[in-house]
Amino acid sequence: MDKRVILRSIPNMNELLEDEKIHKFQEQLGSEQLKKVIRNVLEQVRSEIIEEKTESVPDEKYLKERIRKQLDKLTEPDMKKVINATGTILHTNLGRAPISQEHIRQLLYMVSGYSNLEYDLEEGHRGERYSHFDELLCRLTGAEAAMAVNNNAAAVLLMLSALGREKEAIVSRGELVEIGGKFRIPDVMEQSGTVLKEVGTTNKTHLEDYEKAISEETGMILKVHTSNYKIVGFTESVEMDQLTALGKKYGIPVLADLGSGVLLPMEAYGLPHEPTVQEMIQAGADLVSFSGDKLLGGPQAGIIVGKKKYMDILKKASIDESVTN
Ligand SMILES: *Cc1c(COP(=O)(O)O)cnc(C)c1O
Repeated sequence: MDKRVILRSIPNMNELLEDEKIHKFQEQLGSEQLKKVIRNVLEQVRSEIIEEKTESVPDEKYLKERIRKQLDKLTEPDMKKVINATGTILHTNLGRAPISQEHIRQLLYMVSGYSNLEYDLEEGHRGERYSHFDELLCRLTGAEAAMAVNNNAAAVLLMLSALGREKEAIVSRGELVEIGGKFRIPDVMEQSGTVLKEVGTTNKTHLEDYEKAISEETGMILKVHTSNYKIVGFTESVEMDQLTALGKKYGIPVLADLGSGVLLPMEAYGLPHEPTVQEMIQAGADLVSFSGDKLLGGPQAGIIVGKKKYMDILKKASIDESVTN
């Protein structure tokens, strides 16, 4: 059949808009958006005919179905419930740790109306968002101060850029992790303006390796949890208490990116020991960051706990960044 004849036989916008199952989307999308979707599908059909992918007059029923499918896709929520059959109970790609029903109820109650989010009810003036949880986190972890940002990746970036910009951050070669392809320690370093100073080897890093790397340029020592891999065999790494002793000797802050951030002793559940946030604080870490939603069933967040002196620098830097951005 002649292409022009086929093209002319395609139903027009008004005919399609009259279809009840298409028209009903107008309320939700507005007529401009609705027409745009129809126009796009008509464009696609026309080019398929011109490129000779199809030889016949497009069936009206099929055309409407195709438009409705686009409209459904546009109006359905993108996030869907899934069944986790991966064998990984807390899966980073599948929503991480679920939030408990009780917390959801409290959250719903709190956010469905007004609250004292940034208001000090006792003093009667503007308050701080952190005030609702920093004391809790300090009591829980034994730290002096706490804050939270968007996610743990942001927490690490903030720690590095606030304390290490244009200086060196010493990290063991065994801990240069990549998490999910987007978060890679060397890349985060670069983004933060910190110079990565790798020490040791993939399997073994000694205290002397850290010490030898310390110079005028050193801004911090960073310990990173190897969340998604294990180095087995002939291995050695340096514990936090040794690193903090070294940090103290040279007046350098020692930081930890703990990844999931365990708060309970895993051996109580028959699982191998994992360094807890409390242990890191006890060992003298100046700042420790971890996720609020990986293992802890909270909202997406990056939690930072540690010494007040450094937390104040971070808080100031995070305000400066948000003002300049
Ligand atoms: C998961 C992880 C991050 C990133 O945390 P998000 O909460 O995904 O931003 C950073 N560092 C380590 C070691 C991690 O395991």
